[in-house]
Amino acid sequence: MNVSKLVRPNVRKLKAYEAKETPARVKLDANESPYGFPLNIKGIATNRYPDPEARRLRTAIAKQSAVKMDGVLMGNGSDELIYYLITTFGGPVLFPTPTFSMYGIIGQALGVKTVGVPLDADFDLDLKKMLAVVRKEKPRLVFLSSPNNPTGNCFSADRILKIIEASKGLVVVDEAYQAFAGGKGFTAFLNDYDNLVVLRTLSKTGLAAIRVGYMIARPEIVSEVNKVRLPFNLNSLSQAAALEAVKSKAKMRAYVKAISSERDRLARAMDGIDGVTPYPSEANFIMFGVKSPKVKYKALLKKGVLVRDISAMVKGCLRVTVGTKTENNAFLKALKETL
Ligand code: PMP
Repeated sequence: MNVSKLVRPNVRKLKAYEAKETPARVKLDANESPYGFPLNIKGIATNRYPDPEARRLRTAIAKQSAVKMDGVLMGNGSDELIYYLITTFGGPVLFPTPTFSMYGIIGQALGVKTVGVPLDADFDLDLKKMLAVVRKEKPRLVFLSSPNNPTGNCFSADRILKIIEASKGLVVVDEAYQAFAGGKGFTAFLNDYDNLVVLRTLSKTGLAAIRVGYMIARPEIVSEVNKVRLPFNLNSLSQAAALEAVKSKAKMRAYVKAISSERDRLARAMDGIDGVTPYPSEANFIMFGVKSPKVKYKALLKKGVLVRDISAMVKGCLRVTVGTKTENNAFLKALKETL
């Protein structure tokens, strides 16, 4: 039997997401936090199903975000919520490029039309082109990652607002990296725009292992997306761990502060190296230009430093995640030696 012939054509064309495990002494490729949360989880009834509504966790997140609990939906990572959003609302799905790859991959997996609009020369939204596509294609969903992965910058707030105002569909502002940017992000606009959805995740602030993301939107939107959610998508261990982390506000803030100030130090140091062009970042990673990025990537890996080769997405660029001071210094040393 030819299995591939049985597969839906849109899935046949997909390639499985390669989350490659490349062993390295200094791992700065995946936008993780260098600081794990020391968790002390007790009292999990392993024989019972988890709370399908994740009530305690949602209550804590709602309180922290100054919204009501029925405006919060939990996902097994924000990846899962992207899946649920496209499952619920369908396409066309619009996003700028380059951006986080899952908007396009999940759109294709679900067989909806996806449209990518190139960013402008400053990696900001090309408002004219975005608005033209909004009018022509009438996307049901627009995904805007701000700060954007892999470029690191936030999009101009006024351009995001213009897109929200022009859209008849939903606009999802993906704030996976918001903790590292100044300001409050787009939850502040939830009362003003009924088509706004904000996505957040605990993955970048020390909890990537437990897979917890959430979306904040008006209850009508949350209750529609909740219909396609698998009943026990968030396991009990993750719910308990996330609750503990969300309540450890001071610890979380200290880690985020340490990473943000290391990012700024790292950017300044990179800027001082001939042949390296770091781009401004409000995230926990820095995109940088070098000559022959593929060669440099391999040379860094040979020295034990793993970064992300994004040159297929952004010509001439690599991306480095901000690590501890020791890790960042190891990266800087290796980078200088490879040039
Ligand atoms: N959005 C953006 C912009 C990301 O970069 C990532 C992680 N790479 C995610 C969402 C998904 O994060 P998670 O599924 O771990 O919550």
